[in-house]
Amino acid sequence: MGEASAHDSLNARLNAYMDKKGLRSTGQRRTIADTFFNGPRHITIEELLSRARQADPRIGYATVYRTLKLFSESGIANEHNFGDGPTRYELADEGDDHHHDHLICLECRRIIEFHDEAIEELQAKLAARLGFEMASHKHEIYGVCDTCQKARAKKKR
Ligand SMILES: [Zn+2]
Ligand SMILES: [Zn+2]
Ligand SMILES: [Zn+2]
Repeated sequence: MGEASAHDSLNARLNAYMDKKGLRSTGQRRTIADTFFNGPRHITIEELLSRARQADPRIGYATVYRTLKLFSESGIANEHNFGDGPTRYELADEGDDHHHDHLICLECRRIIEFHDEAIEELQAKLAARLGFEMASHKHEIYGVCDTCQKARAKKKR
């Protein structure tokens, strides 16, 4: 699926959710949505706020916060708390084949995405074995990335 069509289906999901809740689509909310859809992955509220303000300086923190909550509730955004950092938001994966998990570097806070079919299958099997109906999962691996390991090795020399 292309980037544009993935955005279309997420947009449709958001609109359907807002209709159901009787929420209006305001100009500010649309600006925040556009910024979020086109911004970097794993964005914080502060980062999204400063980007959205470039398009509309009147946008405030509370509006961004509420809009991101709405995105999470509607299922178009995933919330992540990677260790001690601020909450980060990313666009939801469209369909199971686009699912991904994360490696988090404790030194530079870099976030690396991965997808491994063997891990996914193992998790599904484990849940089934325990009679557990799996709705979703987050797999997070904390450690030190290759760049930081190299920097460390250099320092030691
Ligand atoms: Zn996974
Ligand atoms: Zn690192
Ligand atoms: Zn991610």
